[in-house]
Amino acid sequence: MLVDEFEYLEPETISEAIDLLSKFGPDAKLIAGGTDLLLDMKMGKVKPKFLISLDKISDLRFIADGGETLRIGAMTTIAEIEKSKLIKDRCPLLSEAAQVMGSVQIRNMATIGGNICNALPSADLPPALVALDATVKVVGKNCEKTMPLEEFFAGVRKTKLEQSEILKEVQVRATQGRTGTSFLKLGKTHVDLAIVNAAARITLAKSGECKEARIAIGGGVAPTLIRARESEEMLEGRMIDENLFAKAAEKACEKLSPRETSFRASPWYKAEATKAIVKRALAKAFERARAGG
Ligand SMILES: Cc1cc2nc3c(=O)[nH]c(=O)nc-3n(C[C@H](O)[C@H](O)[C@H](O)COP(=O)(O)OP(=O)(O)OC[C@H]3O[C@@H](n4cnc5c(N)ncnc54)[C@H](O)[C@@H]3O)c2cc1C
Repeated sequence: MLVDEFEYLEPETISEAIDLLSKFGPDAKLIAGGTDLLLDMKMGKVKPKFLISLDKISDLRFIADGGETLRIGAMTTIAEIEKSKLIKDRCPLLSEAAQVMGSVQIRNMATIGGNICNALPSADLPPALVALDATVKVVGKNCEKTMPLEEFFAGVRKTKLEQSEILKEVQVRATQGRTGTSFLKLGKTHVDLAIVNAAARITLAKSGECKEARIAIGGGVAPTLIRARESEEMLEGRMIDENLFAKAAEKACEKLSPRETSFRASPWYKAEATKAIVKRALAKAFERARAGG
């Protein structure tokens, strides 16, 4: 399939990119790794007259240790995240999600910013990021704002980004203390988009009780990913076990609203798979927390 003609622009700074976005308005589109956008262009779903590449903006490509947090630039590739020792040591949940995202070729091109901004409900990194209490930094003309990633999504393929705004970086909480995490994904093949994926984080108190729990579910089970707060509350402040994980997983499924017409799996299958995946993710996170994280 041929794409319509477009002009390719390569700004070298964030402010230059924002100026171009403001100048060309809806005729312009940002391109990061291009793994999603180029497909959409080939299918004629989007027809930008100006493609603004973020590739030459070095300020968008970094992984930085911020003490209790890690900061990751939007243009960091999934492969860089997968291979980063800092992320493996401090945020193993993110490494785990990056490892099962697409194929090697996709991971080499795709960026964390693109994985977030395409707002696909089946994207792999967002549930892991939400389980790590991620916030995103967005920059626009004369403004910069930070918001929880959970609030960034507005629907299927919709975010709260304004036309001339850029996602600059993501900040996640580093894993500390007796914390265990787990990311599980069910897809038709291991390189496919998820039918369902789930990220779990459990922190244990010295007494052995669950001090803090996070559960985030993705994979097209709802228009945006689900943070299962009520399930988290069922675990927090209690001695936890397999039985409780099953109940928490059951509760999480009350929030699902999968499309009837999804070609990946039926709503019934997605609900059953979600129950199993969430329960297993919690059990694995718990086991890792008990082993010292
Ligand atoms: C064969 C194949 C397999 C795939 N498998 C998976 C998978 O297993 N798991 C998964 O999660 N995804 C998968 N994907 C989807 C895709 O690869 C990812 O979502 C990828 O992370 C997108 O990143 P990108 O850098 O390529 O984004 P692009 O395609 O460049 O951009 C995607 C969208 O985000 C916008 N954007 C990008 N960066 C920014 C920014 N910094 N600020 C504002 N807007 C921005 C672009 O304008 C565009 O609208 C797959 C895709 C293909 C083609």
